[in-house]
Amino acid sequence: MPELPEITVIAQQMNEEIAGKRIAEIEARQPKNLNMPVSKFAKTIKGKTVKSVESHGKWLFLKLDRDYSLLINLGMGAELIHFNPAQKLPEKYHFKLAFSDKTGFVAHFWWFGYIHLVTEKDLPKHKMTAQLGKSPKDKAFTLKCFKESLASKKTGVKSFLLDQKNVAGIGNVYVQDILFKAKLHPNRKISTLTETEKSALFKAIKEVLNHSIRLKGLAYEIDFYGQRGKFTGEHFLVGYKTGKPCPECNTPIEKIKTGSTSSYICPKCQPLEWKMQG
Ligand SMILES: [Zn+2]
Repeated sequence: MPELPEITVIAQQMNEEIAGKRIAEIEARQPKNLNMPVSKFAKTIKGKTVKSVESHGKWLFLKLDRDYSLLINLGMGAELIHFNPAQKLPEKYHFKLAFSDKTGFVAHFWWFGYIHLVTEKDLPKHKMTAQLGKSPKDKAFTLKCFKESLASKKTGVKSFLLDQKNVAGIGNVYVQDILFKAKLHPNRKISTLTETEKSALFKAIKEVLNHSIRLKGLAYEIDFYGQRGKFTGEHFLVGYKTGKPCPECNTPIEKIKTGSTSSYICPKCQPLEWKMQG
């Protein structure tokens, strides 16, 4: 499932490739991905030009002219692939968008996905994106505002990070090393975190995600050109490394159940019972 680093890479590539292009046609083979009937969607989007492509958390925002946005969410995983007229299209796809120069992209969803066409005026009312928390790669994501978002939260730290309303873009892949770097057990209650731990968590979020962006995302996800990222299993510190030694203390890494998700932790570096400071 693509998370912030993969979506960031795709948004950058899309921005370079399709900004300035005029939409000529769309094909929607799975109408449930859209937020309006296919015919209305096609009629509305045709002739509009892509001004820019940005990302926020796990969402892609294609800014179109005449005050429209095309919002794309790849759900549990999807291939969003660029094509040009010389290339054969993949056989399986759910959505195709072609520009007037005959280039375009296709989307193939594994499970679910959203392709929503929204006016600027209705954007604040688009529930799925309007409720998103700050994205760790935005300037507005500061230590001060991160600490404010932690205030009065009663959940465990992992649940907090996975809730897109708190921080947008972190999923069950990168959260593993984020918690390890911050030396926090996934079930540590937010209310028990010290100021030092909150700062360490903030730093870990930025470090882990930026590291993957620099490597163009995960090796089992593909980018806009069908290329795999360079973040391989070796790059994880504890994630997916059950039984391997902790990089800090050599204790074997454990896989534990945390709610409906699995967590990979060093039981020594990330104890659930911690010493109160002071
Ligand atoms: Zn350790």
